[in-house]
Amino acid sequence: MEGGPIRTTCPYCGVGCGVLATPDGRGGVAVAGDPEHPANFGRLCSKGSALGQTVGLEGRLLAPRIHGREATWDAALDLIAGSIRAAIETHGPESVAIYGSGQLLTEDYYVANKLMKGFIGAANIDTNSRLCMASSVAGHKRAFGADTVPGVYADLEEADLVVLAGSNLAWCHPVIHQRIAAAKAARPGLKVVVIDPRRTATTDLADLHLAIRPDGDVALFNALLAEIDRRGAVDRAYVAAHVAGFDAALAAARAPGETGLAPEDLAAFLDLWIGTDKVVTLFSQGVNQSESGADKVNAIINCHLAAGRIGRPGMGPFSITGQPNAMGGREVGGLANMLAAHLEIENAAHRYLVKEFWEAPALAERPGLKAVDLFRACGEGRIAVLWILGTNPVVSMPEADRVAEALGRVPLVICSDMFATTDTARRAHVLLPALGWGEKSGTVTNSERRISRQRAFLPAPGAARADWRALAEVGRRLGHPAQFAYETPAEIFREHAALSALAAGAGRDFDIAALAGADYEALAPVQWPVGGAARFFGEGGFFTPDGRGRMVAVTPVAAPRRAPRWPLTLNTGRVRDQWHTMTRTGRSPRLAQHIAEPFVEIHPRDAAARGIAPADLVEVENAQGRTVLRALVTDRVQPGSLFAPMHWSGEFASSARVDVLAPARVDPVSGQPALKMGRVEARRHAVAWHGFAVGLARPAPLTEYWALAPVPFGWRAELAGAAPPDDWAAFARALFAAPGAEAAVVEDRARGLARVALVEGDRAVGLLFAGPEPVEVARAHVISAFATDAPHLLLAGRPGAAQEDRGAIVCACFDVGVNQIAGAIARGEATTVEALGALLKAGSNCGSCRPELKSLLATHAPALAAE
Ligand code: SF4
Repeated sequence: MEGGPIRTTCPYCGVGCGVLATPDGRGGVAVAGDPEHPANFGRLCSKGSALGQTVGLEGRLLAPRIHGREATWDAALDLIAGSIRAAIETHGPESVAIYGSGQLLTEDYYVANKLMKGFIGAANIDTNSRLCMASSVAGHKRAFGADTVPGVYADLEEADLVVLAGSNLAWCHPVIHQRIAAAKAARPGLKVVVIDPRRTATTDLADLHLAIRPDGDVALFNALLAEIDRRGAVDRAYVAAHVAGFDAALAAARAPGETGLAPEDLAAFLDLWIGTDKVVTLFSQGVNQSESGADKVNAIINCHLAAGRIGRPGMGPFSITGQPNAMGGREVGGLANMLAAHLEIENAAHRYLVKEFWEAPALAERPGLKAVDLFRACGEGRIAVLWILGTNPVVSMPEADRVAEALGRVPLVICSDMFATTDTARRAHVLLPALGWGEKSGTVTNSERRISRQRAFLPAPGAARADWRALAEVGRRLGHPAQFAYETPAEIFREHAALSALAAGAGRDFDIAALAGADYEALAPVQWPVGGAARFFGEGGFFTPDGRGRMVAVTPVAAPRRAPRWPLTLNTGRVRDQWHTMTRTGRSPRLAQHIAEPFVEIHPRDAAARGIAPADLVEVENAQGRTVLRALVTDRVQPGSLFAPMHWSGEFASSARVDVLAPARVDPVSGQPALKMGRVEARRHAVAWHGFAVGLARPAPLTEYWALAPVPFGWRAELAGAAPPDDWAAFARALFAAPGAEAAVVEDRARGLARVALVEGDRAVGLLFAGPEPVEVARAHVISAFATDAPHLLLAGRPGAAQEDRGAIVCACFDVGVNQIAGAIARGEATTVEALGALLKAGSNCGSCRPELKSLLATHAPALAAE
């Protein structure tokens, strides 16, 4: 590749797309999909395509800080090692904890796990993967005897039926969604079923949408298992040879459960599933993030085991992970109840094997604290040192306000991050500057067990270092120089691969021994088991003591009882163009165009009952916390349910951390919290004025309600307040930190309307539109015209007669707005997604907006036909 683009991997979702990165030599980079990577074959979604906008150094943490003061690495590492040693001596090893992330590279993860479990001597290392796929891990281990994903992505294209359970694939794993959509377009016989209480962009692909009641999945798949048996569709030979637990699972499945589905929809699903041999059931957070998550996973796997539909092309249960390296984390044992290389912490022989291999003086002998318990222990004063790496639990953990308080009870909180400004980093005592995507080097494993390299193509900024290096330095300072003598990630990877050889020898599934001697720099994407078959369990061979897969008897949970005080169920999830807590994607103007403000979806019936109108501000609250979000009144959610995205943090909005409302109730098997089952009430949040502002400087948080998003030249803001300012010009100057700017003010005091243009020289530096109702300003137009139009023209807030108002941006790649798309459809200029692409370019690059284009076609086509 010398002189050409660098082959690397996207750092966002668990699809693990290959990226070709071409640095421009000035700190920037052009990105393209890697046509040779088997996850994406050249595709990238909107987030991956915008990676180039996230590599700038603005706001980066460039040196260690201790109690807010810049420090040397030596000082920070000495403090950390000394504090850990003192904590162990005073309170024991269980008083130390690490909280990591599925964003970490495998090498970082490996060293963190080794340090904690082998040398600090407790298993208190858990990660945000606990919030993401712990229920899948638990379900896999119960059924297969190991955390094994049996299938591969190609199965989704080879299947005749793809069932998407609890997955908004179109927005959360867009490239896999596109692969299925392309397969369906080429072979319309491929059917898709979407199981989701909510109508989403993914349901546009569905032949059947099952709007299941929240947590109705066990009841649904139990009904399927019972029907598989009743119709004689059990693969008796497979079950007899390879499966245990059939009778008990079937008996449990026969008990009636509540799915919330119309009988005809349920019957259609049963017909489709049972009548289609090649079926893949793909599942994600709607299954995992539940108090019955592990049971849901096993209910799904039960059906595939009973029908013998597993481990062969085009069939099987398929867990798709949220994060880029959730799988790599699992491989190194980066959860509190696992050991490295898929070995078991509760197995004495496995512990001995790891202890000997690591030459570890203090290998943990029992599982440590899982995420929810870990932060509870922090709040109870049981943790003396907490090291958080690459994650933002003050935003993402359930009952997030309690997590914020809990950090205040930990004597030493260390945070390794790219930014000092995250909600979590702001509460840390020691900040360690971490490398970001493009700067760090290592491996990640995607959802189909494929290991790919992330390669550095930018220099380390300032004093930023790889996380593995910081962790190894602490290991050395704790007296273990030989065991933490790593100088390169390649050395760590080789050790990881060598350990996997021992694990494979002990009968485990994870085997990358063949890579121990591989050329790490040139490593091409490779699936494990390296050198083995691509799929597991087609011929049995489970990792249980008797080699049989286990069907697990699972019982449906009852529908949640309506709590009069908190009558609504809050579902949370992702939007198309943001990633996790927006620490990186939140810096991309292109990605902010799609949805620039936190919102809550509420059914028209529930909105009407509460006097909530579209675009009102809504207070969503429960006993744990409170948020204020923009109302999106829509029948995409069912009556009684709300949906709000989990991305917005205190960096980007006044009160939109929705996980403050999520319950810290966990699945008893997996420890995964029920992030989609908050019990809340919603009410209209009355304010005296609303505003929209755009300007060069980041707006100061002067108002009770604010939500910020970047634009190409600066920032935009949605604002609201309890009382309008007396002096709009002074307010605007303070908002944009432009005390010397001239202010052109248009005000109608009687109607409470105000427009302000702040001008320096002949150019606008800030614009503010305010009024008693949500302001109707052509936002996309104002932003695109800001740098070119005269301030008095901008104050109009809408395009002139000769200009077009594009409306909210749907296609982020080519800045195509909803008004342009709807207009083209209404005028009959385009009747298909492809035609829209040819006409406007919309959807013709990354393809992430194609489901929305399809939806717009459906919405506007009937009007056309009626004319
Ligand atoms: Fe990245 Fe998008 Fe691919 Fe996920 S689907 S890995 S976010 S490019």
